Amino acid sequence: MIRTLLKDVPPGTIDGPILFHEHLSIRYPLTKALADAQGRPVPVSFSDDVDLMVAETKAAGADGVRCIVDGGHPDMDRDLAALKRIAAESGVHIVASGGFYMQRNYPAEIATRSADQIADELARDARAQRLGAFGEIGQQGGVLTDDERKVFTAVALAQARTGLPVFTHNAYTGVRAANPPVPMDAALKQLDVLEAGGADVKHVAIGHVCCLDDPKAEIARQLAKRGVFVGFDRVGINAIIPDEKRVAMILAFLEAGLVDHLLLSSDFANGRSLKKNGGPGIGLTVTAFAPMLAKAGVSDATLRHILVDNPRRFLAVVPI
Ligand SMILES: [Zn+2]
Ligand SMILES: [Zn+2]
Repeated sequence: MIRTLLKDVPPGTIDGPILFHEHLSIRYPLTKALADAQGRPVPVSFSDDVDLMVAETKAAGADGVRCIVDGGHPDMDRDLAALKRIAAESGVHIVASGGFYMQRNYPAEIATRSADQIADELARDARAQRLGAFGEIGQQGGVLTDDERKVFTAVALAQARTGLPVFTHNAYTGVRAANPPVPMDAALKQLDVLEAGGADVKHVAIGHVCCLDDPKAEIARQLAKRGVFVGFDRVGINAIIPDEKRVAMILAFLEAGLVDHLLLSSDFANGRSLKKNGGPGIGLTVTAFAPMLAKAGVSDATLRHILVDNPRRFLAVVPI
């Protein structure tokens, strides 16, 4: 079953693209808690207007999208009631997620709790709130802080206890310089921690790998060979790295026979990209990026495998 907010859904009945990392309810980068701590006013977010998000999600449905995984949780001001409304009124399945984002967003109690205690809390919340994934689980800089390492371990434990899939966030900056630079192997280090915590690699997606300028997709290939999904989940964000480079990396990845390990999404978090504002909308992975892959020679059958079959397998769990 895929655990959506409204009901458990047999994966085979979701007969169209699934976007595994988007944001339909988020305040970023300045959340309420961070604004309060800094004595600044709470900024407006594009997703505050839930009617608008219903309309935009419905439009993504018209573009062919059948299911969207929201990558937020409370420390990103994700509003579960808003997601439920969007799911009920848009006709698009919504999977909500649990977890913690990155060091600067952590509530104070992360510092004093053990990984085991955090895992218990994550598993309990997931059951109580019908969460269908843990994500996005992130790190602020190129190297995990002690607290971030603890959260990654806790999420691995919670994955093993619930079966729910996990997806991650890292700090890769693509063609832009970072100071200090983000190590190329940051994604591999995340997997090291998740594996050590007992996570099932078949339900792990290491995210933002498309934000690493790695023309031959060497890091992506190393990840896939360890059994995980590789998230090319910031498609359309050309300011980090142009989509043409993402297409070239995907071709190298597919050439290596790793099609079963690829997931696509756009990490939608920018009001300017809404259809209302003249942007491509939440379905841009399907309407704008997939056609680039098709033009580069990727067949319709392969595209369907990447957009439909792979995320079904990633999300499908035995209900708990
Ligand atoms: Zn992210
Ligand atoms: Zn995200």
